[in-house]
Parts: sequence; C-alpha cells; structure tokens
Amino acid sequence: MERLTCCYSGLDVLGLGDWVEMHQNCQECTRLWSEYALVTRHYLKLEGRLQIAGVSQDGKTVADLTPLMERASVERAELRRLIQEHERSPKAEAARA
Ligand SMILES: [Zn+2]
Repeated sequence: MERLTCCYSGLDVLGLGDWVEMHQNCQECTRLWSEYALVTRHYLKLEGRLQIAGVSQDGKTVADLTPLMERASVERAELRRLIQEHERSPKAEAARA
C-alpha cells in the first residue's frame, strides 16, 4: 500500500491523480502507468533534443530524431489506449471494491 502510494505520487504530475485514486490497489494499473511514464520520459527527451536541433538548424539530427520521436509517440498512444481499455474493464471495477 505504501509502495503504491509512493509510485502514484509521481503520476499526479501528469494530472491524473483523480483517476489513479480509483485504481489505487490495481497491479495492472501500476504496470501500465509505469510503462506509460517511461515512454513519456523517452518521448519528452527526444522532443527536447529535436527542438535544440531545430533551433541550431541541424538538419541531420532532426532527420535522425524525427522517426524515433514518431515511434515514441505511437507507443505512447498505444499505452494510453491500453489504459483506457483497462479502465473500462470489469476487473478494474472489482479492484476498486
Ligand atoms: Zn486498474
């Protein structure tokens, strides 16, 4: 319980505190959200590097990073979809009880 609270506190940063509260004891949530947080960090890192490359007019780096960022973006969308599916699942309801 303590561990979960600790884990979820980081997710409040993403503005998802309300939803997370409903799934406080749900292991699948923990797994999905930690993966989502990981991909998001990766995505934001690439975005930052891409911005710097753009400002420096570093065309080669932009060309290298753009497909990586697009892939991270797709992964993020996929995880979001999985989380939404999970949220609607009966199992999630049971976990709330
Ligand atoms: Zn859940």
